[in-house]
Amino acid sequence: RSMSSLTIPPPACMLRPLEVPFRYLFGPGPSNVPPRILAAGARPIIGHLHPEMYEIMNDIKKGIQYAFQTQNNMTIAMSGSGHAAMECAIFNTVEPGESVLVAVNGIWGERVAEIAERMGMLYALAKHKPVLFFLTHGESSAGLAHPVDGIGDLCRKHNTLFLVDTVASLGAAPIFMDQQNIDILYTGSQKALNAPPGTAPISFNERACQKMFTRKTKPVSYLLDMSHLSNYWGNDGKPARLYHHTGPVSGFFALRESLAILAETGLEESWKHHKEVAEYLWTGLEDLGLKLFIREKDLRLPSVTTIAIPQGYNWREILQYIMKHHQMEMTGGLGPSINMVIRVGLMGYNCQKRNADLALAALADALRNCKKSKA
Ligand code: PMP
Repeated sequence: RSMSSLTIPPPACMLRPLEVPFRYLFGPGPSNVPPRILAAGARPIIGHLHPEMYEIMNDIKKGIQYAFQTQNNMTIAMSGSGHAAMECAIFNTVEPGESVLVAVNGIWGERVAEIAERMGMLYALAKHKPVLFFLTHGESSAGLAHPVDGIGDLCRKHNTLFLVDTVASLGAAPIFMDQQNIDILYTGSQKALNAPPGTAPISFNERACQKMFTRKTKPVSYLLDMSHLSNYWGNDGKPARLYHHTGPVSGFFALRESLAILAETGLEESWKHHKEVAEYLWTGLEDLGLKLFIREKDLRLPSVTTIAIPQGYNWREILQYIMKHHQMEMTGGLGPSINMVIRVGLMGYNCQKRNADLALAALADALRNCKKSKA
């Protein structure tokens, strides 16, 4: 040992086994992953360019087309989280100097506005004709399900691409990509789909493909360049898929399984189920004397419920109490909703009345035990 040339010894923590606690993930995501999806992700790895892997990717594409209700050929899963899909959509369809219009109904609009700003885009409707309009369908920071009908038609009239974020809503609230004239749609793996975080389905229609494949400049990101990704996913009609990057093989196994579960359950059944359990939760919360942040029932997101912080309580204390005594994650607000709400998410596998009961019992316990402050 004294002869070692290493200046950094093996860290003591690495000589201890991995410890992962059991937790109820009843926040805005990630949500608990059912054993069937965990098992799919634990299958032996194969090469990312093996024919069997292409078959699995083709299946994923079909699963996404069903979940999005689209016939778009240009449908893939990103190697990355929801943010990768968000940046992929913008980097590929918008060129520097062009303008985008962003609906800011919570943190996700703010985030996209920042991505656009970093790329040197302008965002204003009046002076600059926007090439793209961004809307978050399931606004997880506000607990809002934003209506989508009619907006796609309006965008089409103005020759603007309609981009919709369904990271927090896909599988939990209805969305119809083709019927609603949505040009680009993306989601994440870790919410109602119940797969581990790290993959993100995205789809582009013909209008979006026309814009992104006739651009004059190359997208700023090589990794997120759709001309390469469309080849990797076998969407560009070329006979061979070439190496671009190494996809998350286990993540794709798990995503395939989660899309299979959605197909077996049926989209309409999944939407109905999320609505029923959410309404059950909302009634229970009101019975505890809590107020829901979104007053109008029809505008509430079924997957993530926002509760107005009860007067006099410290929300951090409530969340810490629930984590400590109930091994349960709920979270505070995010961005504009910080210090305003507590968020409870019951998504996919977690979306069960018995879980709503557990969440309600934990909240009731916290309200009894976290003393009201004098303020
Ligand atoms: N959009 C929405 C609506 C989200 O809820 C989230 C995740 N909370 C994201 C985008 C970003 O996804 P990710 O954390 O997977 O990058």
